[in-house]
Amino acid sequence: MFSNPSLGTSPSAEADWRFIVQSTPDSCKAIVAQTVADNRHLLADHFYAYMMGHPQASVFLDHEAVHTRLHGSMMRWFNEIFQHPLQDENAVVAHQRLVGEVHARIQVPVHLVARGARLIKLDLSAALAPQFDDLGLFEKSVSYVGQLIDLAMELMSASYERNSQRSAREDEAYRLYSVGQNIAVERERQRAVLMEWGQEVMFSLHRSTGNDALPSLGKSEFGLWFHHKAAGIFDRDPEVAEISAIIDRVDHTLLPMLRAPSMEIRPRDVLIQDLQSELKTLQFHLSSLFERHQEAENGRDTLTRLLTRRFLPAVMNREMQVAQTRKSSFALLLLDLDHFKRVNDEYGHDVGDMVLQQAANLLMNCVRNGDFIFRYGGEELLVLLVEVNKEAALRLAENIRHRFESSAFNIGQGRVTHVTASIGVALYSGHPDHQHLIKQADDAMYEAKNKGRNQVVNAAFEPDAGALIPAKK
Ligand code: GH3
Ligand code: MG
Ligand code: MG
Repeated sequence: MFSNPSLGTSPSAEADWRFIVQSTPDSCKAIVAQTVADNRHLLADHFYAYMMGHPQASVFLDHEAVHTRLHGSMMRWFNEIFQHPLQDENAVVAHQRLVGEVHARIQVPVHLVARGARLIKLDLSAALAPQFDDLGLFEKSVSYVGQLIDLAMELMSASYERNSQRSAREDEAYRLYSVGQNIAVERERQRAVLMEWGQEVMFSLHRSTGNDALPSLGKSEFGLWFHHKAAGIFDRDPEVAEISAIIDRVDHTLLPMLRAPSMEIRPRDVLIQDLQSELKTLQFHLSSLFERHQEAENGRDTLTRLLTRRFLPAVMNREMQVAQTRKSSFALLLLDLDHFKRVNDEYGHDVGDMVLQQAANLLMNCVRNGDFIFRYGGEELLVLLVEVNKEAALRLAENIRHRFESSAFNIGQGRVTHVTASIGVALYSGHPDHQHLIKQADDAMYEAKNKGRNQVVNAAFEPDAGALIPAKK
């Protein structure tokens, strides 16, 4: 009774797609293609009207850019699926996954996408019915339409799930960053237990005649934490080997000598000084270890201390919500340093790093407390200006550009250099996909480069649908 026995055992979605298309008679495919072509405007309109009837969907669709482009991208999607279904099944499959990714970013509930798919199937079946005299061919056509739409939905949902799990993990990291807990607490705890151990040793030494057992550092609370937990927290940090060596020297050299004064080569008070100096070095290594990881855990870039781009989606999604509820707007400034390779080539990478740090400080002094600054890439910095309109954002960008142009960057030994910046500005217009706004800022920044660098360019308003229905590039 099953007409497609091989379905589901195919090695890939691409093969499934090809199988559905190839196992459908050409006459059916031709009629479906023609029916879709004749009815696509009606189908797209009905789809939009139906979706707007759902309160949750209207949140995503009630945006001018989405509305304007939805019609067109919906029709392109029909075309991609039914008009030339075998032109390139790899591209079709990849595109469905991309749509799922966009939906995850905008957080369109999966059930709404399924609702849209259900309507399209119903509408298409109704439109196909009058085209057929042969019931068998009609059924084959309806099955063909249903299977392709279902496979497209399956691909979108799988990619949606993958991407929303990833964004949940990032949100969790962001929560930790906001709370600022964990590493900071651990750091204080370990500092305290290490000090306690030192005091315990000193106490035992003062109390004893020399033969009492001294507490081992490796077996102390700190030692146990270090050997069992720190390895997991600090993988690959150079300080780990240094700390291990100190624990070994303390337990296997210093403590035995302190324990057996008759065998001591150095006087006891010198040994105590040695022990204290080892502990001081240990604390120092421990602090730098914690510091580096605290910065990373806080989502800070270790060179510039700016936020890493990892938290950009979480911050932008939250700012979009704030903008909606407070009826405000925000802007992105994407800033790329001009000819930065030359700084590295001329003075070396370390000096390049120094200049980057100063560039980050300069930016921090230009913006307000509530704004966010990210290290977006190597020498690309991204500023999110909260609660600004277009004029204010452009004014701030111009101020930043001017500050770069007129600043002297210290490159050591009393020397200075000059660096300019190209800045792309994009104002949030309500589009629910944060990537859309980043791309606008990025395009504007490239335009600033092309126009000769050291300038500010405002993004052209260029709506790009991404919600619910795929927008083809
Ligand atoms: P322009 O942007 O004006 O087109 O020229 P550019 O020379 O800045 O070119 P591009 O943006 O393509 O290259 C960026 C260079 O910045 C590449 C790399 O040498 C340097 N860079 C990126 N990240 C770092 C970093 O962390 N430290 C240092 N010292 N240099 C970096
Ligand atoms: Mg660059
Ligand atoms: Mg550059």
